[in-house]
Amino acid sequence: MKKDIICTICPKGCTVTVEGEAGAVTSITGFGCKRGQEYATAEFTSHVRILTTTVKIEGRDSDLLPVRSSRPLPKEKILDCMAVIKEVSVKAPVSQYDVIVENICGTGIDIVATKTMQ
Ligand code: SF4
Repeated sequence: MKKDIICTICPKGCTVTVEGEAGAVTSITGFGCKRGQEYATAEFTSHVRILTTTVKIEGRDSDLLPVRSSRPLPKEKILDCMAVIKEVSVKAPVSQYDVIVENICGTGIDIVATKTMQ
């Protein structure tokens, strides 16, 4: 099986081509850095995934803060994590990479801002 995966970790958006069978990667090309290689491997083997979503900003009904998990989360935890994130609102200003939710659902993984909001 061969799959093209767009890395969403940084704005460069590399297309990473992964080949393999039964969750095992046999070839991986197109990544611009190690983080993207890890991201695409995790997406392909599908036990974990980077969670990307938004959270509310207090006092700003029309703005949302984009966030993502600092590392890939186990897929079975995604819905629980989304339920937690849905209840979160932040106060601006927020800097890119600020931790928004620490150790979400006891996973040891943080939810971090992906954008600076003044
Ligand atoms: S592979 Fe690296 S350089 Fe390319 S989009 Fe992902 S994080 Fe950015």
